[in-house]
Amino acid sequence: MPSHAARLKKVFKLREFPIAVGLTIIAVLVSTALVATQANTRFLELARQAAKDDVGKNADAIAGALQRELTKVDVIARAIRYAIEQKPDLTQQEYQDLVAPLIGTTPEILLVGRSRGYVIEQVYPMAGNEKAIGLDYRLVPTQFMAVRDALRTGKASLEGPVNLVQGGTAFIQRTPYYPKSREDKSRIASGIISVVVNREQLITQIYQDHGIETHDIAIRSLTSDLSPGKMKYGAKGIFDDNPILREVPTDSSIWQIGLVPSLGWPEQHRMEHYVWVLSLLGSSALGAMFLALWSMYRSKRIAEGQLRSAINSIDDGFALFDQQDRLVFANEKYLSYYDLSRNAIFPGNTFENILREGLRNGQYKDAIGREDAWLKERLAKHFNPTEPIEQKLGDGRWLKVAEARSPDGNTVGFRVDITELKQSRERAEAANRAKNNFLNIISHELRTPLTSVIGYARFLENIEILPGFKALKQALRTGAGEAECNRALDLLRNDVAGMSGRITSSSDHLLGLINDVLDRAKLEAETVDLRIEPLDLKDMVKSVTSNLGIKAAEKGISLTSDVAPLPIAADAKRLRQSLINVVGNAIKFTETGGVHLSSDSDDTHVRITVCDTGCGIPADQLDQIFDQFVQVDTSVTRRNSGTGLGLAITRELVELHGGSISVESELGHGSSFIITLPIKSQKLELAA
Ligand code: ADP
Repeated sequence: MPSHAARLKKVFKLREFPIAVGLTIIAVLVSTALVATQANTRFLELARQAAKDDVGKNADAIAGALQRELTKVDVIARAIRYAIEQKPDLTQQEYQDLVAPLIGTTPEILLVGRSRGYVIEQVYPMAGNEKAIGLDYRLVPTQFMAVRDALRTGKASLEGPVNLVQGGTAFIQRTPYYPKSREDKSRIASGIISVVVNREQLITQIYQDHGIETHDIAIRSLTSDLSPGKMKYGAKGIFDDNPILREVPTDSSIWQIGLVPSLGWPEQHRMEHYVWVLSLLGSSALGAMFLALWSMYRSKRIAEGQLRSAINSIDDGFALFDQQDRLVFANEKYLSYYDLSRNAIFPGNTFENILREGLRNGQYKDAIGREDAWLKERLAKHFNPTEPIEQKLGDGRWLKVAEARSPDGNTVGFRVDITELKQSRERAEAANRAKNNFLNIISHELRTPLTSVIGYARFLENIEILPGFKALKQALRTGAGEAECNRALDLLRNDVAGMSGRITSSSDHLLGLINDVLDRAKLEAETVDLRIEPLDLKDMVKSVTSNLGIKAAEKGISLTSDVAPLPIAADAKRLRQSLINVVGNAIKFTETGGVHLSSDSDDTHVRITVCDTGCGIPADQLDQIFDQFVQVDTSVTRRNSGTGLGLAITRELVELHGGSISVESELGHGSSFIITLPIKSQKLELAA
């Protein structure tokens, strides 16, 4: 099952991530803008509705008030008409007495005139309107038509707006009156009662009465088919701005009121644009911010990646631990060195945990058997790093461990593989030891036999000091008998023979030593040529045991063999030399018991085992005894002579035959040397 993180990683590849985020930002902002726009539209609708309701209420109030005012004017006109019809010949005073109380409470009525026919006869108030007396409507073109229609039809009408001679604008209610007698009703009207209403004052009065200040009003008349007629008040444009309309019927036509808010209806477009502009700006800012952050994040990742790959490509191990000693990063090489602790080497794990895992798995060779003490020492060095340390791993490799604390408290660790260096150093040390050993051995091995050769040669040089010579001389001088002389001669012969024998054996030993050194030199120069020939293994073993039997007998140990006849192909001289080395060693290092040779074979190989009951070899030396000049006991006082070359030569000779030599040993109980040889030599096969 892929982990959650892995799945996420799959869904969001790094490259697609900014696109996804960008789209999300755009989607969020577009939906925000849409929601805001919708909210705005809804808000606008509500605001409009509220405005309409408000304007509608005011329109109702204004229409009602206008209706009342116009009715009032009409009623006043009718009252005057009635009075005049009752008494057509009113004096000016009577006229004034009639009109004054009627219009006293109606300040918007400027004047009330009465014409007889087309000529104005009476006005009230007189002051300021004297000029109107005697005015003939037939001479005023703007009023003539209306007056004529009123006289002819007898219908009252509300006219206007009319520009007044006194200035200002007015509506004029014209109400015709008739002679008193009923039968005259069908005839032309006697005259007209004109009630002049100050238009501005009328409207202002209505506004003030209803506390309306925030609305603009326009009034027009409607024609008989209800289409717009003449403007009565206000700007014509108000009717084009979705006004609230109300109708007010008058005597002659229907008036229509249009009302709009002074500041106009609530508008939509601005707010909406702001939202979109803000969204655009917001998304651009967010996008830019995101891009900046993203590019910073990318650069950081790229830099980290470069650093990681650089650290990974280092040929040494590298690890970084934070202030809490938790692993931050370890490169591949580091992991490869600590393969046995690999499971614990992950970011976040502490150095101590990693060490403990290693200790459980035998990662640290030096720690085996003393894990707790080792852990303590290692941690102490880790927390106070000074000099680099050397560390032996479970797989035999050597690491140089260098650790350092950075100023911010992190710990940097380097691991360098110094196995080869260590091995070559060990080899050099071993070679040096071997060289010293060789010099010791050679000086000892040469000096001992040479001393005895020189010593015995001196005796022979000064033969007169030998007891045998002295005895012979005495016998001859005293003229002793033949028997006595012979005895003295035998004594002298024994002395000379003994010394010569010691000189011979010392010389043989020296020769053997020189031969060994020369053999080794030859083998090293690869100038040894095997003379492979068919021979019988049993015969070969027999010749070796009879050769060395005397030595074994001298030491009082047994030398036995149980080797079946087996034809093999080998260099007889070199095989004998090898067996003599191994069997000679076995006799040399065995004090009690004995040495036994046995063999077994398969189709291709024969194994010759030389088993002794001698001192044995320490386990840690088993690998080394086949190296030249290596001896288990290197002290000058060692009991057994030897150069440390025998087994090195033997191994090379056996390997030249295509075979091998190995050893098993138990200290204090004895050793077994096993020589394995091919039954048929390749060389012999080639020769056949
Ligand atoms: P040396 O001339 O010293 O015998 P070798 O190369 O033959 O040199 O042997 C090397 C060393 O191996 C000996 O010095 C001895 O310490 C050890 N060795 C060889 N054979 C035996 C054995 N059979 N028993 C115990 N030690 C042995």
